[in-house]
This record gives sequence, C-alpha cells and structure tokens, in this order.
Amino acid sequence: MYKGAGFTISKTHIVAMMLLVIFANSSKKAFYFLIIPFVLLYMIYAPIGFTFGKASYQYIASLFTTDYSETSEFMGQIPIENWFYTLAILISILLFRITAKKFNINYTKNKTFLILAIIALTFKQGPFDYIKNIKTSTMEVKHELTRLNTMTQESHWGKSILTNKSTYDTYVLVIGESMRRDYLNLYGYPVKNTPFMDSAKGVIINGLESGGTNTIASLRLMLTKANTKTWQPNYALNFIDLAKSAGFKTYWLSNQGYLGTFDTPITSIATHSDYKYFTKYGAYDSANTSDYLLISKLKSILQTNPEKQKRLIVLHIYGSHPSACDRIDDFNKKVISIKSEKYKYLACYVNSIAKTDDFLSKTYSLLEKNYKKNDDTFSLVFFADHGLAHRVIDNQILFNNNRVSKYHYDIPLMKFSSGDTQQVKYNAFKSGLNFTDGLAHWMGINNKNITPDMDLFSPTSMSNDYGLHNKTKNAVDDPAIDIRGK
Ligand SMILES: [Zn+2]
Repeated sequence: MYKGAGFTISKTHIVAMMLLVIFANSSKKAFYFLIIPFVLLYMIYAPIGFTFGKASYQYIASLFTTDYSETSEFMGQIPIENWFYTLAILISILLFRITAKKFNINYTKNKTFLILAIIALTFKQGPFDYIKNIKTSTMEVKHELTRLNTMTQESHWGKSILTNKSTYDTYVLVIGESMRRDYLNLYGYPVKNTPFMDSAKGVIINGLESGGTNTIASLRLMLTKANTKTWQPNYALNFIDLAKSAGFKTYWLSNQGYLGTFDTPITSIATHSDYKYFTKYGAYDSANTSDYLLISKLKSILQTNPEKQKRLIVLHIYGSHPSACDRIDDFNKKVISIKSEKYKYLACYVNSIAKTDDFLSKTYSLLEKNYKKNDDTFSLVFFADHGLAHRVIDNQILFNNNRVSKYHYDIPLMKFSSGDTQQVKYNAFKSGLNFTDGLAHWMGINNKNITPDMDLFSPTSMSNDYGLHNKTKNAVDDPAIDIRGK
C-alpha cells in the first residue's frame, strides 16, 4: 500500500499500518466498513504510484485539467504488472482475514501483544518523551564535550619572563557583556549610570574596539593571540596559559554558561585556569543567575594567598546580556524609570549598566580592603565583549545582536589599581586584536610570541585596525537614544 502511494517506507509506518489492520480485524464491521474502503482508496492511486511515485500537486492538477486523449496516453505509460500489484493489495488483506478466521487467531485477546502494540504506537509520543529528552540532552552534552576537547589545546607559549613592570600581586580582569560604550555616563550618555567608574582613580580609555559583534566572535580573538590578517583565534596561545607560563596562579569565575553552542569556545580557554567556578553548567541562558554570586567567591579567594603568589583572577559576568530586564531583577539601585512602553527595554539596558557599575564597585572595595589589610597590591581591568544594535519590534525598541551597528565594536576599557591617585581619561584607538598583547603588557609578561609595547592604557592610538573600518562601513548608524523623560 505504501509503495503504491509512492511513499518511502519506514519500519514504524509499516508497524502502524499492520496494527491498524490487525485491530480492525477483531470486528467484522470495522473490517468491512473501515479497512476495505481505506484499502480501496490506496488502490485507486496505486497503479500510478508504483511508477511515478507520490501524488504531487502536479499529478492531481493534470488529472483534473487534461482531456481524455492525454489521460489515456498517461495511463498507457503504466506497466501492466502495476495493475496486478494493485490487485494483490486487496487479495492480501482478504487472505489475512480469511486465515485469521479459519485458524481462529485473535491477536487482540493476547495481552502481551496488546502491550507491545501500544508501546510501538506511543513510542514517538508523550509517555516516552522523558527518555528521549534524556537521550538528546546526553547527546548534546557529549557533542559539546567533544567540541571542548578538540578546542582545548596544549599551550604553545613556551617560557615567559616576568619583567619588573609586573607591579601588582593580584590582577583582576572583569569581562563585561553586551556593553556599548555610548550608553555609559562615563563616555557621555546623559543618564548617570556609572557613578563608580566616574569617580574611581585609574585610567579610562575611550577607543577600544572589540574583536567581533558577539561573545564568541569577539572573545576568542581578544583572549587569544589572534591572527590579525585572517581574524582567526589561536587557542594554543590564550591569555590564561600566558599568565601561567609566567608563574601566575589563575582563577576563572563565571556567571556565563559552561557548555553550550555559545559558551563552549570560551570555556575551552577557561578550563586552562588553575581554579574554575561556574554558576551554571548548562548554557549561559539555562538559569538567570546574578553576577553578585561571583562577589562572595572572589572574597574567599582573596583571603587565601599566604605565600603571596602572583594571581590573575578573571570574572566573566552576565552584565547587560539580552534580555536586559532579566539581568536587573535583584538590582534595587535603578537609575531611571520611564513610562513609555516603547523605551522600556532601553531603560532596563541603561539600568543593567548601572548594575555592572555597582558590581565593579563591590569588586574594587574587596580588593581595596584586602590591599589595606594584607598589603596585597592589585590592578583591576574592566572591558566588555561587544556592543549591540537597536531593533524596533512591535513598537518597542530592543537592543540586541540581530544586526550590526556602526557602534557595535565600541566597548569600554578601564583600569583601577592600588596606588592610583587620580583618574585620567584618554581618547585613543586600541584594537581588540592586540588585546592579548595588551594584557601581557599589563601583567608585565615578556614572551617571544608577544608583540612588545602594546599598551592598552597609554594615550597613544594603536596604528593598525586590521580592516575593522571596512567591517562597519555599511552597518546601521544608530547612535545611543536619550531616554530621559520618555
Ligand atoms: Zn557577549
């Protein structure tokens, strides 16, 4: 019957058809009034189906639109044996009924048969979804673990030298999320959402450009010694291994995901750290965890360094990741509230920046306290992975990664260290593709693979943008929107 209908035959389809006929056969009425007409319907198309395959729109249309001579010509193409096959369908079904009757075979009275039949029929539905769900999840995890293993490479840095420019004991790198520079009060946005950054003593850089427009695209280039011609990462030359090659003890505290399409590549860098802490083992969006969870972890780590080993502590935060409104659930120092539905999302975004500012303030306080108590000198660097682009959906202005903005690569960069006496601010272009070189400079590490003197915090602009200008040439021009009074 399936062949006559032109279908590709699967085992489950065959089992389903068999069970239908077998169950209907337990009732005479069901057999003659249901199965026989049903089989006849299959037989109508079977001679054509055996030769030409599945009934398509075209066959049906031609059946209705062609004249008699065309139809007979079409029928003439059908081999004679197809008519026999068609007849065989009906004969087989009747033979089945006759045999079952003659030998008194009652399948439906056998409980084992009934249960097996029900399992076979429901296997692709509700009751077994749980088992299948576990199976797919396990497969996904296995897939991501394989990815993680292939991406995690042996370090190619070799030996590094710690120079006398490595001034501090504890280096802290906070990786922000989806923070576009022009939405920070620090860089001129009119809502006061960066009170800590505005007043903290250190260096503010206006001009860092990210490695890409989303987390992976950007961080894989910024946190490894990337190929500046092809914009390809080099996981064997990542900044964690660089710090380790110079004798640093490394820590990675993350409020992003551990395994997931958008998390695994970054985790492959994180796994090189001596100490790892993830708030969730699923993808970044598997749970809405607060960045503040990392603060208490940091606190306990800071307390445990009696032999004063050099340390690099990375804090990878959830920051302003879309949807930003979920990020500020536990933030009660909101800096703006608005009435208009249209700007509601942007208000969440502006507040999420204030939350990250607060997060930095708390991080700084811990470091400062530890410095005063244990003379543990520190340097805190903050940057974000990329910006976002505006998008109007259902008359609400969203801010996400669905397209590329002219300002998508514009990210904040700042450094606050123990002993800094004032805040200085420089307008200087810094390339995200030199970021690992810049981190080496910051930590005072020399290595043969590092381009020397790539200072992320000097007033001098870096000379090469490696073609970034062309990447944003045709992008959307969507400057920050002032939401005050909306
Ligand atoms: Zn991101």
